Amino acid sequence: MANIFGTLESNEGESMSDDKRAGRGRGRKHSSGRGSSHGHEHWAEAPPEYAFLPERAKDFGADHAALMPADQVVVDERVRLKCAVPVCPGYGNYLHCPPNTMSVKEFRQTLERYSVALLVQVESARDSRDLDDAGLAGKDAVALEESLHGEPNRLLGEIVNKLEAEAFKGGYYYAAGFSGGICLLCPSCVGVASGQPCRRPFEARPSMEGVGIDVFKTAANARLPISLSSDEPVRWTGLILVD
Ligand code: SF4
Repeated sequence: MANIFGTLESNEGESMSDDKRAGRGRGRKHSSGRGSSHGHEHWAEAPPEYAFLPERAKDFGADHAALMPADQVVVDERVRLKCAVPVCPGYGNYLHCPPNTMSVKEFRQTLERYSVALLVQVESARDSRDLDDAGLAGKDAVALEESLHGEPNRLLGEIVNKLEAEAFKGGYYYAAGFSGGICLLCPSCVGVASGQPCRRPFEARPSMEGVGIDVFKTAANARLPISLSSDEPVRWTGLILVD
């Protein structure tokens, strides 16, 4: 299993010096270093004051983590379409699934206010090849996700929550975490129609895709690409916006 906690090392071609690590200043904000507004450039070196976050991601059990300029998080209305076509069992039913989450337009506007993002990934024991030739027709999507990926899904959620808290405690009080897939914390969500509150509001987070993030392009921009229909382990991917 590749260890890319050195995304700062391996991707930028240069290791962070101990001085820079030691000099990280939690709570300090950087005022420069963003990528281009076109989203095609990457930091020559991530601002050192954020280096504690990928380090903590490793401590919490993530397999991969990378800092990136927030303007390289890709948002696309077509992602929301894919929540509805084919319709996901979470769509309209789960509290953190569309259209119960903020709109893509709102998220895009909110994202513009952030300067730094941390992408984290947890590898599943499964790869993304078809299990058989039968396809997905007739299968229970929630049961399938639980059986195939319940464990990495929940681990990713835990890591996202912990990193959001770490960033908050580090002075980045706008830190906001996004997980992946439907929320599997309960056997079934209370749902909006019930009028009941979320059973685990301090743990449940919306998914990246639920707010319109193109996870594949964003992961590629973070230099942690996801391979589809491959024999590589599925990478459950989450994001923490940090400011
Ligand atoms: S924690 Fe439970 S109630 Fe809350 S969003 Fe997740 S599934 Fe729904």
